[in-house]
Amino acid sequence: MAITLRNLLKDRSLLSVKKGQSCFDCDVLLQETITGKHSTGRGLVCSGCYYDELGKSIENFPIVSMRVRRG
Ligand SMILES: [Zn+2]
Repeated sequence: MAITLRNLLKDRSLLSVKKGQSCFDCDVLLQETITGKHSTGRGLVCSGCYYDELGKSIENFPIVSMRVRRG
C-alpha cells in the first residue's frame, strides 16, 4: 500500500493515542520507517530532532578541511 500524506497523518493521529516510544524532544511517536528512531545520550529521538542536533554539533565543532585550492 502506498503511503500518502493523508494516510500518514491519519496513522499518526491514531497512533498518538496509543502508548509507545516517543521522541525525547518533540514527543512524536517513533516509528522507524516513518519518523526514524535514533538513540542518543538523552534518549530516543526522531530523525528531525536527531539531524537538527547533529547540525548544531557540527556548527559548534566544524570539520576543518586541510587546504582549499582555488583556480
Ligand atoms: Zn523529534
